[in-house]
Amino acid sequence: MNEPVALPALSCADDYDPNSMPVDKAREVIGRFLSPVTATERVHVRAALGRVLAAEVISPLNVPAHDNSAMDGYAVRYADLKADGEVTLTIAGTAFAGAPYDGRLSPGEAVRIMTGGVVPVGADTIVMQEHVKAAENRVTIGGGHRKGQNLRRAGEDLKAGEPALAKGRRLRAADVGLIASLGIPEIEVYRKLRVAFFSTGDELVSIGTVPQEGQIYDSNRYTIHAMLERLGCEVLDMGVVRDDPALLEQAFERAAGAADVVITSGGVSVGEADFVKDLLNKLGQVVFWKIAMKPGRPLAYGRVGEAHFFGLPGNPVSVMVTFYQFVRDALLTLSGEAPAEAAPTFTVPCTSTLKKAPGRTEFQRGILSRDAAGQWSVRVTGEQGSGILRSMSEANCFIILPTEQGNVSPGTLVQVQVMEGVI
Ligand code: AMP
Ligand code: MG
Repeated sequence: MNEPVALPALSCADDYDPNSMPVDKAREVIGRFLSPVTATERVHVRAALGRVLAAEVISPLNVPAHDNSAMDGYAVRYADLKADGEVTLTIAGTAFAGAPYDGRLSPGEAVRIMTGGVVPVGADTIVMQEHVKAAENRVTIGGGHRKGQNLRRAGEDLKAGEPALAKGRRLRAADVGLIASLGIPEIEVYRKLRVAFFSTGDELVSIGTVPQEGQIYDSNRYTIHAMLERLGCEVLDMGVVRDDPALLEQAFERAAGAADVVITSGGVSVGEADFVKDLLNKLGQVVFWKIAMKPGRPLAYGRVGEAHFFGLPGNPVSVMVTFYQFVRDALLTLSGEAPAEAAPTFTVPCTSTLKKAPGRTEFQRGILSRDAAGQWSVRVTGEQGSGILRSMSEANCFIILPTEQGNVSPGTLVQVQVMEGVI
C-alpha cells in the first residue's frame, strides 16, 4: 500500500485560492502527493500489453545476432571490386536466412545471399542483385560500390547487456514484440493499480432498474469504469450510494480499505459538499477546490484512510473532463509509469465561433477533421452544457481555451488535445 502523506501541507502552506484554483496549479499540487505502487509481479510476454515495467529489460543478446544482409544480392570482398570497371567473381555458394554459408570467402569469390542471410566469413560488402549480371556460377559486378554497404552489423540495434526498455515504461505492441525478439518469456511489472469508485445521489438508478418519477440513470459509473479499464486499472465498482452520511461513511471506508484510489462522482457541488466535507475530514484529509475551469468546477482531492481520493463533480461531462485533466495523469503516475505524459496537444484552425469568458480554462468538445486538401481543422460539437454527454461521445478532442482567452472567431488557431484512443 502507499505511504501515508501529510496533506495539511496542501491546505495551509500554499498560497492558492481554493475558490478559484488554476488548472495547472491543481495538477501540480496533486502531483506532489503521488506515491506510485511498488509491489511487482511477473507476467508472460503475452500478458504484458499495457503493463508497466518494474525493472529495465536488459538484452541478453546482440541484435541482430550476426552480421547479415539487408538486401538480396551477393556477398563479396570489397578488395575484389574495381572502383570503375567490371570484375567477374565465382559464385562459391549460398547464404539464405536460416541457412548460412559455412565456408570462408576466398579472393575472387562471391556468395549468393538473401535478406537476413548471415554474411560469410571473409565477405565485407553486399552488392544488390539488381546491380549485377549473373550467369551460371559467375557474377559480373560493375564499379561505384562502397565498402560495408547493405550490411547490418551484429549488435547494431542493441548490444548484449544494454537496456532495451526502461523501467516505468507502459508496454505497447512494439515493446511486446521487442521483448519476444530477445527471447525473454517473462517480465517484471508493477501490480495493477486498484481503483474503487461509486456514484452518489438519491436520484440515481443503475441500468436494469426502472427509474421512478425524478430518477435518472447513473451514467457516470459506467463512464468511469470504461475510462479506468482503458488505463489498465483493476476496478472495483461499488454501485450507487445514497446521499446519506451513514451509508457514505461505510462506502468510503470499504473503498479505502480495498483500493489504492477512491473515485466518486457527485456530492461536491455547493449545497452537497458541506456534509461530504465533514465526513471526509473525519475519514481522511481532503481539500475541496473550485477549479477555474469549465466544465468541472468543483473537485475534491486528498486521502481517505491511505487511499488517494478524487471527488469528481456530478455532471456527466464534468466527470469526463476532470477525470481526463487530473485523474488520468495521476493514475498513470501511481501505476508506476514514468514519465507519465499528458495526452498530446496540437494547434489547428478552428472553424466555429466559440463563446468564452476570460478568467478560467475551458475544455470545449471538438471534432478534429481533415478537408479534401488534407488540412486539419477543428469545429465545436454543438451545445456545450455539462450535462450533455452526447457532446463527449461525438467529440474526438478537447479544444483547450486558456484562462485569458475570450471569444474565438472562425479561423483562429486553437489548441486541441486528442482524446481518441485515450479515453
Ligand atoms: P451533483 O454534483 O451531485 O449535484 O450532481 C450534479 C448533476 O449531475 C445533477 O443534475 C445530477 O443529477 C447529475 N449526476 C450526478 N451523478 C450522476 C451520475 N452518476 N450519472 C448521471 N448524472 C449524474
Ligand atoms: Mg448529487
